[in-house]
Amino acid sequence: MVVTRFAPSPTGYLHVGGARTALFCWLMARHHNGRMILRIEDTDQKRNTPTAAKQVQDDLRWLGIEWDEGPEVGGPNGPYAQSERLDIYKKYMDKLLAEGKAYYCFDTPEELKAMRDQAEKAKKSLIYRAPAVLPTEADAQKAREEGRPVTVRFAMPDKDMVITDVVRDECTFKRDELSDFIIQKSDGFPTYHFACVVDDELMEITHIIRGQEHLMNTPWHVAMQESLGFKTPVYVHMSVTMSETGGKLSKRERPKALKNIIKQTGDIDLDALTAAAGIDAEEMSRFLKGKAVPDMPVIDKMAGYLGISLPEINVVDFMKSGYLPETMVNFLALLGWNPGGDREIMTTDELIECFDISRFAKSNSLFDRKKLLSFNTEHIRMLSPEKLLFHFKNYLKIVNSVVLCDDDKLLARLVRINEGARTLADIERKCRFLFADDDDLDYDMKSVKKVLLKKDGLAMLGLVGETLKGLGELSPASIEKCLRGLAEEKEVGLGKVAQPLRVGICGNTVSPPIFDSVDMLGMDRTLNRIEITLKKFGD
Ligand code: GLU
Repeated sequence: MVVTRFAPSPTGYLHVGGARTALFCWLMARHHNGRMILRIEDTDQKRNTPTAAKQVQDDLRWLGIEWDEGPEVGGPNGPYAQSERLDIYKKYMDKLLAEGKAYYCFDTPEELKAMRDQAEKAKKSLIYRAPAVLPTEADAQKAREEGRPVTVRFAMPDKDMVITDVVRDECTFKRDELSDFIIQKSDGFPTYHFACVVDDELMEITHIIRGQEHLMNTPWHVAMQESLGFKTPVYVHMSVTMSETGGKLSKRERPKALKNIIKQTGDIDLDALTAAAGIDAEEMSRFLKGKAVPDMPVIDKMAGYLGISLPEINVVDFMKSGYLPETMVNFLALLGWNPGGDREIMTTDELIECFDISRFAKSNSLFDRKKLLSFNTEHIRMLSPEKLLFHFKNYLKIVNSVVLCDDDKLLARLVRINEGARTLADIERKCRFLFADDDDLDYDMKSVKKVLLKKDGLAMLGLVGETLKGLGELSPASIEKCLRGLAEEKEVGLGKVAQPLRVGICGNTVSPPIFDSVDMLGMDRTLNRIEITLKKFGD
């Protein structure tokens, strides 16, 4: 049976790179009726954040990626957080030590730095090798008592390592480039390399799908598997995803974009921005000089304060920008993999059906945001009304929108009449006017100037109000008839009538279709808003 695993280190939000890895592990498992395991690799006590593991799970669920074993689900191979499996690792660590395949080291950080500096001088990287006589357990105890850091290193075998990767075929790593490496840190925790290899064996993982950045780790992992008598799973190292702004797609994209905007916009009140971000002037200055990057929540606060949107990078960012999970799954699946032919827009079921491990690309892929937006438009169009309503309500909750209400009929109508929307955020933005108080409408001054304050915009709005007053029964059809009649009478296009009305009742030039907008707002509120607008901008 095919068994895959997604093994995130819970150091922050799940970003699209991680989501892509999880997706392929899941597609592989589903295609072969196998199992996917979620394993939390939390042995790096310094880097873990307590809420990240939960956030990762929420993000995976939002994407529709369900694991068969792991946290919250359980399974026969638990526990699924590495921090709860320390006794298991100890057993294998002791075995390697006893067999002389791993050994204690007592180097201080200063000593290690000196070794590294020396290697650097010779234009080499540090290749650590075991001493001729390995330290004993008693030596380790003595070092501990002396307060020296005690680590354990794996002794690389005396040979070149040849590993097989589905994407890159055979890769050879030369013996003299493979250093002995730490498998147990001085805090007693195993490193990722060791815990990962033990768990992959015990969890009977058959296929490891992960990012190319792990290719360098694989000779180490395979060497440990050989030493411990473990099986070597099939390895797939996926190619890199590039950002449109150059370089590898990374979490740095958001701070980078923010910094550029702050620098390019001349009139930003930096003191106010610093206060809004909750940092001090020193930190702000370091950020603007490119010397430090504040945490993501701080970056988000600054973007919020400036009213700008930054390029999405974490799964939650895409969620908040109104992308559908179906879109993300489809888009991510085409980064470094293809289904053959020129098929692009695909449902998740189609992806599962046609998934083929031999179709990963060697070349890098591009994270094309325009393409993502067009995928989203297409998936919004394709989705059933029920599913779309479900996602829209979920979106309203996530962004804590004023549009959120219990009236499913109304929300379904809002979704329906906004046909062609590119994102759920577009729909939400267009519908806000319905939920505002009449005398507290948010006017977009650009729209007001362009439509109402130019020529006879306000006069037309007054006329539209008068005409609507005469309308008996209110329906989109009767409103359309009435407005078209007025346009004809005045010998102008419908836009000349509809736009002033739109700005008058919505505060801007984007709203759902105007006939529906009036109908949903109702006659009294429409007339009230027209009156308020006329008073506000008339002389
Ligand atoms: N915890 C590792 C990471 O997040 C997993 C790497 C692997 O799949 O082996 O990068």
